[in-house]
Amino acid sequence: MQTGLSSPRYATLGEQSAGFIASAHRMLIDGRWVEACSGKTFDVFDPGTGQVVARVPEGAAEDIDLAVKAARRAFETGPWPGMKPAERTRLLLRLADLIEAHGDEFAEIETVDNGKPLAIARRGIAGTAEMVRYMAGWATKLNGETVSVSQPGEWHAYTLREAVGVVGQIIPWNFPLSMAIWKLAPALTAGCTVVLKPAEQTPLNALRLGQLFEAAGFPPGVVNIVTGFGATAGAALAAHAGVDKVAFTGSTGTGKRIVEASLGNLKKVSLELGGKSPVFIFPDADIERATPAAANAIFFNSGQVCSAGSRLYVHRKVFDRVVEGVIAHGDKLVVGHGLDPSSQMGPVISHAQKERVERYAELGEQEGARRLGAPRAFDPDGYFVAPSVFVDTSPGMAIRREEIFGPIVCAMPFDDEDLEHIASEANQTEFGLFAGIWTRDLSVAHKLARRIKAGSVSVNAHMVNEPALPFGGYKQSGWGRERGREVLDLYTSLKSVAVSLD
Ligand code: ADP
Repeated sequence: MQTGLSSPRYATLGEQSAGFIASAHRMLIDGRWVEACSGKTFDVFDPGTGQVVARVPEGAAEDIDLAVKAARRAFETGPWPGMKPAERTRLLLRLADLIEAHGDEFAEIETVDNGKPLAIARRGIAGTAEMVRYMAGWATKLNGETVSVSQPGEWHAYTLREAVGVVGQIIPWNFPLSMAIWKLAPALTAGCTVVLKPAEQTPLNALRLGQLFEAAGFPPGVVNIVTGFGATAGAALAAHAGVDKVAFTGSTGTGKRIVEASLGNLKKVSLELGGKSPVFIFPDADIERATPAAANAIFFNSGQVCSAGSRLYVHRKVFDRVVEGVIAHGDKLVVGHGLDPSSQMGPVISHAQKERVERYAELGEQEGARRLGAPRAFDPDGYFVAPSVFVDTSPGMAIRREEIFGPIVCAMPFDDEDLEHIASEANQTEFGLFAGIWTRDLSVAHKLARRIKAGSVSVNAHMVNEPALPFGGYKQSGWGRERGREVLDLYTSLKSVAVSLD
């Protein structure tokens, strides 16, 4: 197979990651590594160079069907359903150790596949292993409870918490390995079996992870991984009558299609969707900390984060200082290929995404907003976009309302101290994923946290990547909560049992 890995750009890659990327990729179905039924493959690009680095099987409805049947068999028969919770914990802890042991390899694959700088990819991988460990501990603690019954007679009543069954999981490309783990770890903790479809832009780490599931000793069919496109493989998984639950992370538009596709068998659905998250900076805040944090909130991962702080509300007293600081931060960011050690921000994921981000920026300027930040020149082959701050926006503008998923932030001054007013303006969005609040005034912080319609709020910090904290959306940002104990509600069903003792 001819890939772009022969270029000097990849000379620093370790033997294992380079060997894996260049290998002949297969999908994992029923414990076997297989090609797509159609025999078709599709190209995987390095977004930092635009080169093809790998080819993976193009799974579609037929492959999804085989994978769902394998997951069903593994759920009903074989070693998995009989496995004690403590054994599931042990398997998951083994997986976490393997992820850590292969951390450099995962990080390098993630950088080539997704584009992010290697140092950032490394930190993400470490957090992923911790997520597996956190979830592993819950396997032995998923209990029902006894229930007091007020009916005549004597009763023993209790609830049982049972695995929901075969789960279809569809994930995006912005954090390929952690998105896979956010989905797989709780489902397996609960005793479900899974068909995972990674994003077509970034299938490589999910396939590598599949090898580690095998190495950790998970029985065949418990984790199945099908690579393919959304409209074919993804849609088939969301619609499949043999799937008990579908879990999705991605855009709100695609989330709505998943809901429609799920109607056939009314499978359970959880969705982690888009955002247009506000960050508020009050004049009493530690501006020296808040300013770089506000910049990172939007420039981190090239803005391709569902909880990115894409609307920056700054009190007028400190507006110029903060905005100038955010612009200076963006202008200083070294934007380049993720394998270049000096790079601090990588490309966006694809040519289409670059065009989309630039279209929003142009539209913003046409609508009368001002774009601040130095013009930058980039290697034209990679999908690079300049970090930018927009001022003089108005609430109706597309850049203020819609999720861009790029390094573009709208900065708005506020004057009044009326928290109701500040909150009601920021709440005028269809999204409700996250909000950041910077102030030293405890009363302001807690009052605003209550008034913002969002699933997560951070005070004097941006998004904490903490496995124990539930994460998910209000409004059109989603259904259900991932992470924390609450994610296990998505993967378990509650059964009540009432026994007459008379
Ligand atoms: P983007 O448009 O940025 O790629 P999406 O939300 O469409 O974001 O993609 C996230 C995931 O959803 C990917 O794995 C993609 O393949 C999948 N997907 C896209 N369209 C569909 C669909 N109609 N049904 C199921 N999955 C889909």
